[in-house]
Amino acid sequence: MKKIQMVDLKSQYEKIKNEIDKSIINVIESTAFINGPEVNNFQSDLEKYLGIKHVIPCANGTDALQVAMMALGLKPGDEVIAPSFTFVATAEVIALLGLTPVLVDVNPDTFNIDPKAIIKAITPKTKAIVPVHLFGQCCDMDAIIEIAVENNLFIIEDTCQAIGADFKMKDSSVKKAGTIGHIGCTSFFPSKNLGCYGDGGAIFTNDDELAKKLRIIVNHGMTVRYYHDMIGVNSRLDSFQAAVLRIKLKHLDEYADAREKAASYYDRAFEGCLKLKTPTRFEKSTHVFHQYTLVTNNVDRLKLIEFLQERGIPAMVYYPIPMHLQKAYQDSRYHEGEFPVSESLSKNVISLPMHTELDEEQLEHISNAVLEFVNEN
Ligand SMILES: *Cc1c(COP(=O)(O)O)cnc(C)c1O
Repeated sequence: MKKIQMVDLKSQYEKIKNEIDKSIINVIESTAFINGPEVNNFQSDLEKYLGIKHVIPCANGTDALQVAMMALGLKPGDEVIAPSFTFVATAEVIALLGLTPVLVDVNPDTFNIDPKAIIKAITPKTKAIVPVHLFGQCCDMDAIIEIAVENNLFIIEDTCQAIGADFKMKDSSVKKAGTIGHIGCTSFFPSKNLGCYGDGGAIFTNDDELAKKLRIIVNHGMTVRYYHDMIGVNSRLDSFQAAVLRIKLKHLDEYADAREKAASYYDRAFEGCLKLKTPTRFEKSTHVFHQYTLVTNNVDRLKLIEFLQERGIPAMVYYPIPMHLQKAYQDSRYHEGEFPVSESLSKNVISLPMHTELDEEQLEHISNAVLEFVNEN
C-alpha cells in the first residue's frame, strides 16, 4: 500500500508533472518573477471560474483578510464578529489592526458560525462579520446577508478552506464560496484545495471601487509609482505560484470530486457507529472536503491517534483550542464555558487523511483501524 499522508502532494504533482515543469521553466526563462503575465492570466482564469468581477492576488490568506479589513476602512475600536472555532488568522488580523474581535459560537453540526449567535453579539460598534467556511462547506450565507443588511455590516468571507464550493441562495441562484459577501479571501497554501508550491492568496470582490482600493493597498498604497496615497502593505503572488495555480485550477472540480468520493467512503464505513459522528452535509452548500472531520463521542482521542499512528495512519485535530481560550487572545470578556459548542468540538473532533489521491485500499485500511479502536475501547 502507498504510504498514507494527511495530504499527498507528491502523487498529485506526478499526474501533472509535465505541464507544471514546463510552466515553471517558462517563468524562469521569462525572468518575469514578480507581476509577470502568469499572474494576470491566473487572475482572469480565477475570475471566470468564480464568476466574479475582480480577483486581487496577494501573498497569503492571512494578508488577504488583513487587506480586506484595511480596504473597508475599519478603524480601531470597530467590532468584527468572527467564530470562536477556527484557524487563528481571523482573530490575528483583527487584533493587529487594533479592531475588537467579537467571538461567537458555532453550529454543532456544520462547525460554522451560528447566525443566531451573530445577532446576539451585535452592538452599535459592530462593523463587519467574518464567516469562515470551515472544512469546505459554506456558512448559512442567506441568514448572514439578512443580518448584515439589517445592521449595515460588511461581510468578509474567509473561504481559505472552501474554494470551489457552491452555495444555493434563497432565490435558487448558485454562487461560489467567497463571492457572496462584500469581499472574499482565500489562501493557496500548498495543502489547501487549490494549493500552490509555496505561499499565495487572493481577494475577491464584485465592487469596482473596493477592487481599486484593494489593488492599491497590496502594492504599498501606491497609485502612481512612488506616490503613496494610503498606507499599504507589500503582498504579492509571485509568478511561479501563479503558473502552478493556473494548471491546478483546471483540475479543481475534479479534485473536489476525488475528495467527495473519499468522504463518501468514510461516511459509509462509519455509518451507524454511535461513537463517531460523520460530517453533516449542509443542504444549501456543496462540500469540498478540505478536511474530513469526525466528532467522537466517548472516545479517548489521544489514544485513538496513537493507535492510528502505529498503523501508519496520520490524523490531526483541527482545532484543539478555541480562539477565546488561546493564550495570546485572552480577554476578560470571555471565560471557559463561554462557547460550549466550540469547546466541545475542540475536545472531540478528529480529522482523517483527506486529499485527491486516496485509493480504496488506503481508505479501507484507515476506516478499519478507526472502527477497530472505537469498537474495542
Ligand atoms: C489557511 C487559512 C488561513 C490563512 O492562510 P495563509 O495562506 O496560511 O495565511 C486563514 N483562514 C483559514 C480558515 C485558513 O484555513
